[in-house]
Amino acid sequence: TEEKSLNFIEQIIEEDIRTGKHEGRVLTRFPPEPNGYLHIGHAKSICLNFGVAQKYGGGTNLRFDDTNPVTEDTEYVESIKNDVQWLGFQWVNEFYASDYFDNLYAFAIDLIKKGLAYVDESTSEQIASLKGTPTEPGTNSPYRDRSVEENLDLFERMKNGEFPEGSRTLRAKIDMAAPNMIMRDPIIYRIKFAHHHRTGDKWCIYPMYDFAHGQSDSIEQITHSICTLEFIPHRDLYDWCIDKLEIFPSKQYEFARLNLTYTVMSKRKLLQLVNEGHVTGWDDPRMPTISGLRRRGYTPESIREFCDRIGIARRDNLIDVSLLEFCVREHLNKIAQRRMVVLDPLKVVITNFPEDTVELCLSENNPEDPNGGMREVPFSREVYIEREDFMENPPKKFFRLAVGQMVRLKSAYIIRCDEAIKDEAGNIIELRCSYLENSKSGNDTSGINVKGTLHWVSVSEALPIEIRQYDRLFKVEDLASAEGDFKDHINPNSLEVITGYAEPSLKEATVDTKIQFVRKGYFCLDTDATPDKLIFNRTVGLKDTWGK
Ligand code: ATP
Ligand code: MG
Ligand code: MG
Repeated sequence: TEEKSLNFIEQIIEEDIRTGKHEGRVLTRFPPEPNGYLHIGHAKSICLNFGVAQKYGGGTNLRFDDTNPVTEDTEYVESIKNDVQWLGFQWVNEFYASDYFDNLYAFAIDLIKKGLAYVDESTSEQIASLKGTPTEPGTNSPYRDRSVEENLDLFERMKNGEFPEGSRTLRAKIDMAAPNMIMRDPIIYRIKFAHHHRTGDKWCIYPMYDFAHGQSDSIEQITHSICTLEFIPHRDLYDWCIDKLEIFPSKQYEFARLNLTYTVMSKRKLLQLVNEGHVTGWDDPRMPTISGLRRRGYTPESIREFCDRIGIARRDNLIDVSLLEFCVREHLNKIAQRRMVVLDPLKVVITNFPEDTVELCLSENNPEDPNGGMREVPFSREVYIEREDFMENPPKKFFRLAVGQMVRLKSAYIIRCDEAIKDEAGNIIELRCSYLENSKSGNDTSGINVKGTLHWVSVSEALPIEIRQYDRLFKVEDLASAEGDFKDHINPNSLEVITGYAEPSLKEATVDTKIQFVRKGYFCLDTDATPDKLIFNRTVGLKDTWGK
């Protein structure tokens, strides 16, 4: 078998193991900010972080990056844990960056004592105006040369709540002429009188992301801190803090974030879709969230396969969402239970079949699975077939039903269409057919070969079900380069609700049952369903019909 080539992160890890760095230990982390639900982009990061650690005998911490008190919520924490586990991964430790607030405060004091941080009383506008430009150096703040004692005193008073929000910040004293603008005395602490979901009102100063992130990695002794490309300019500060604080040397590596066609991925935008009612919630089956994909009928295996296939890139790219659909289709084909459901019914009366008789037919649950077993499907004198499976004037190769033509009703009998009945307006409302008594599937002695096999349901036994058929949520392929607001591109027809007629065994479906509606696509029970009202989501069609 062909060895898959290593991605660049694996190459780095193998080199580190070879040179004995960290005694060959591999510890990664997945650091979500609990300000929204996880999406398919996070799944990629999860698969990478947990995947490489697993591969090299290491582990992964789940760390909630909860240093911004205003946007975070415990509801999100619970959903994130649930989604990571559902994807099939288990963390070694569950940590919260907010648990490090004491350590981070001590690190800040350490920097002050080393003459490497100062309290600035400039407004944010003043700070911005002295930052310089990428081509011109910035200007030192008038507060830059305070004494260590004065800085220690002011910083403590910031912590004690003596100063109003926005009036003071703690800044790292690095270099106002640094070519990397992030290194021009970045703010590392700010005053915020906000309630934190875990630390409550204990703090009124909060560390900035850049000051918290690398140090959290270091406290946990993370060996490989994997993040997305937009953090490249932050790496200098990440390294600077570790160097000056003389703490465990975690290393940051960057890969390209996942972008998908017809999809927005930022939590901020997804939150807007939820709050403004464009979707029914974070787990709306049209959402690219893990919870939306799960409700839609995606399997963890298919998402992991997708992440594996797209690989790890060092340049931003746009992945075709039909690859994700391909992956779920491929997995569902292996595991889905086959069931017959008619979406657009046309009644067929089998005139030579006895009235008031229900005959049971055996049908295989999954031809891809030798142990899939069989189920009974009731057959009777009146059945529904799909309206599109009959044509009045069929073209030559139409192997479905037409007057005078024969087809097999799947797992049941061969029927011949004798007559099409029309209403006054000329619409076909019913077909009169006759069946070949000796043609029953599994016991066919008719000697007749028909080319077409149709799915069907018995009219008297059929269950009416609600079917939710989804289309893309957005009309344009590349939302990042589309004009205007992303919401201008919402597809107004992303949900179509119809009634279908299902064989009775669908009553037993649970939200975890993966089902193929024969010849139609893959479906699953929706979480809105009740025993009295069965609702099914279309996960994906049988074939990729996009662009056709
Ligand atoms: P968003 O912009 O969607 O809010 P984020 O990066 O702010 O994403 P975090 O909660 O900070 O969200 O993300 C946790 C981890 O997931 C980070 O390491 C981040 O790099 C990674 N991640 C987020 N979005 C993607 C994506 N589209 N592709 C790959 N990794 C991602
Ligand atoms: Mg983030
Ligand atoms: Mg974000």
